[in-house]
Amino acid sequence: MTAMTDDSSRSADSVVLRDALSDPLSLSDEAVAAATRLPPLAAVHQLPAAEVDALAELWTSTRADSAATHPVLARLGPAAHRLRELRRAERTTTTCPVCCFDRLDEPPYLAFEGVPEAEGDRESLAPPYAIHFGDPSRRRCPCCGFGFGIDDDPVHGDETWTFQAWLRFWIERGASWHDSSRKPTQWTLAAQFAAAGRAEPAVTPTG
Ligand SMILES: [Zn+2]
Repeated sequence: MTAMTDDSSRSADSVVLRDALSDPLSLSDEAVAAATRLPPLAAVHQLPAAEVDALAELWTSTRADSAATHPVLARLGPAAHRLRELRRAERTTTTCPVCCFDRLDEPPYLAFEGVPEAEGDRESLAPPYAIHFGDPSRRRCPCCGFGFGIDDDPVHGDETWTFQAWLRFWIERGASWHDSSRKPTQWTLAAQFAAAGRAEPAVTPTG
């Protein structure tokens, strides 16, 4: 008989945990054991993102009495909360300020923490954006092709682009991917904007 690998025993723990957390009021001994076997952050890291969110919510809302009544929640709740915050922060800093693609290889600017949510605040940001967000990556977004510190910096060309102007121009020309190998199947721009909590701009492609 072959010994269980670390991976398979970890994923077994993960299944037990998932079952337990779907009803945190009735935790089995097995679930408690699984929760204590792994460091909390490692344990929650294996859960699907939606469940990490749910666990973090539950922890936030029941923090006061959870230690006594939900041992697994008491152990994993803070880790789920932390992981959710870390993932949110990471998504924010690697989201393209033009097209909302959220898997840039690095933040577009050193101190970038997302574009302002209010339309008016966004409009008032003028390029070059390094003034507002710090050193640019000088790389292009694989989706919309905007070059951070390239297209918004007059040093690199005659034309200086704002995020908004590039977005309109790109959509008018059909919103095709700069690097099509990075394009997810079933991709839509509307869903990409929705995932970032922004409204898709009303621009009609010119064909
Ligand atoms: Zn982009």
